[in-house]
Amino acid sequence: MNEFLFTQVLTELEDAVGRENCSTRVIDKVTHSVDYFWLSRMWADRGREMPQADFVVSPKDAKEVSKVLKIANYYKIPVTTWGGGGGTQGGAIPVCGGILLDTKRMNQIYDFNEKGMYIECGAGAIYKHIEWAANERGYSTMHFPSSLTCSTVGGFLAHRGIGVVSTKYGKIDDMVLQMEVVLPNGDIIYTSSAPKHAAGPDLNQIFIGSEGTLGIITKAQIRIYVQPEVRRFRGFLFKNMTAAFDASRELLQIFKPSVMRLYDEAETASLIKKIVGVAKPGAFMNIAYEGKKELVDVEEKILLDIFNKYGAEDLGSEYGEKWWDEKITFFYPGHMMDLPQMFGTMDTIAPYDKIEKIYWEMKKAIETNFPNIKFIAHFSHWYEWGCMIYDRFICDNPPQDPVEAMRLHNQVWNVGVRTAIANGGVVNDHHGVGIKLGRLMKEQYGPAMQVFEGLKKQLDPNGIMNPFKLGL
Ligand SMILES: Cc1cc2nc3c(=O)[nH]c(=O)nc-3n(C[C@H](O)[C@H](O)[C@H](O)COP(=O)(O)OP(=O)(O)OC[C@H]3O[C@@H](n4cnc5c(N)ncnc54)[C@H](O)[C@@H]3O)c2cc1C
Repeated sequence: MNEFLFTQVLTELEDAVGRENCSTRVIDKVTHSVDYFWLSRMWADRGREMPQADFVVSPKDAKEVSKVLKIANYYKIPVTTWGGGGGTQGGAIPVCGGILLDTKRMNQIYDFNEKGMYIECGAGAIYKHIEWAANERGYSTMHFPSSLTCSTVGGFLAHRGIGVVSTKYGKIDDMVLQMEVVLPNGDIIYTSSAPKHAAGPDLNQIFIGSEGTLGIITKAQIRIYVQPEVRRFRGFLFKNMTAAFDASRELLQIFKPSVMRLYDEAETASLIKKIVGVAKPGAFMNIAYEGKKELVDVEEKILLDIFNKYGAEDLGSEYGEKWWDEKITFFYPGHMMDLPQMFGTMDTIAPYDKIEKIYWEMKKAIETNFPNIKFIAHFSHWYEWGCMIYDRFICDNPPQDPVEAMRLHNQVWNVGVRTAIANGGVVNDHHGVGIKLGRLMKEQYGPAMQVFEGLKKQLDPNGIMNPFKLGL
C-alpha cells in the first residue's frame, strides 16, 4: 500500500475507533505477530521477522467493530482478530498483514443474570475475570482450561475450547447462550437466546469454531453453575490402557464425573511422577466427581465397583487432590516443553471403537518416521461415546536453521494428523486449526469442505476475514 493510501486508511480507522486505539507502532505490531504457535515462536527466536499487521486497532464495542469491517471491505484489506494470543495454531497471526483487531477493550460485564443463569460479557474479557465475577456471587463458569488467565471468551468460542471439568459440564459450546456477532459486511447480528431450538440450524454453531473467518464475536452470554457442595478426587493405576478405556466407557453410561484424565505409561512415568508423585509403573487415571453430597456418595460407590472390576489399583484421594492443585503447574517453565525443544499437541478426537488404535498407530508412525522424536499422551475429555487424545510430540534437538525446523515440524504434523484421519479420528478436539492445520482440512472433510467454503463465500465475498486460517 502506498503512503498516501496507507494514511487515508489510517485516518478512517482512527475515526472509527479513536486515534488512541489505532496504532502503527512497531512494538504493537511485533507483540501481535507471535502467538503460542511453536513455529511463530521459533521463527522469532531465530531472529526472523514474523508477518506483521499494518494497523492494530482496539474497538470498544460491536458498533466500532462494524465500522472497521466496513473500511476493510471497501479497501479489501485483511482483518485478523486477536483475543489473548494464547492460541496454539497461529490463528491470530496476521499472515497477510492488514488490520489486526484486538478484542481486549471489549471486556465489560454487561449483565449478571442469576435468574437466567448467565453472565453477559464482552468477547474480549479474559476468562479468569468472568470466573472471578461468578465466584463473587457463589457461582462458577465451570470452564477451567489451563489458559484461563491469558485467553479470552471470544478466543475460546472461536476455537471451541474446553476445560478440565468438561466431562460433566461440557465444552464452551455447551456453555454459551446468545452471542453478538459482527458479520464481515459490518452487520451486527444476534444468535437466538435459547440454543436448543428447532427454528433451523443453530446459528451459534456456525460461529463457534470459525476462528474469525466468518465474523467477529463481540458479546456472549456465558452460563453460570451453582458451586458443587463437594468435589472429590480419586487416583487409580491401571496395568494397561485397554482396561481403563473399558472401565471408563462403562462408568460414563451411568454418570458423568467432572474430571477424567488417563495418562499413558510414558507420561505417568515422567510428568505424573514429577508433579503428582505417583512412582509406580502403569497408566495413572484421575477422576473427580462432584455435586450434592448424597449423590456423590452414590457415584463414588459406583466408580469404585466398576474400576475394581477392571483391576484398577485405588490410590485414594491424595494424588487426585495434588493433581487438581497442580493442574496449571503442568504448563509452567520447567515442566512444560519450551524452546529450543520442538513440540506440538495433536489433539485428536474419536469414538471408543477407534480411539485406542489411533493412539497406537500415531505413536508408531511418529516414532518410526522420526526416531529422535518422543510421543507421549493423555486422554483428557470424555464423552459417553468417545474421548480425546492429548498426544504430544517432543524433539529435543530440532534443526537450528529456521527453514529446516519448519520443514521437520510440518512433516511431523502431516504424519501424525494423516495417521489419525486414516484411522477414523478427527484432526482436532479443542485447539482449533489456524494456519497450522489449514492444509489438512480438505483431507479431513473431503467434499464436505464445500459447506464451509460456501458459507465463507456468502458471508465474506472479499475474503478479508483471517485469510488462510481453517483451510479457507
Ligand atoms: C499454556 C496453554 C494452555 C492451554 N490450555 C488450553 C486448554 O486447557 N483448553 C483449551 O481449549 N485451550 C487451551 N489452550 C489454547 C488457547 O488458550 C485456546 O485456543 C483459546 O481458545 C485461545 O483464546 P485466545 O483469546 O488466546 O485467542 P487468540 O489466540 O487470540 O485467537 C485464537 C483464534 O480465535 C480468533 N478469535 C479470537 N477472538 C475472536 C473473536 N472475538 N471473534 C472471532 N474470532 C476470534 C482468532 O482470530 C484466532 O483465529 C492453551 C494455551 C496455552 C498457551
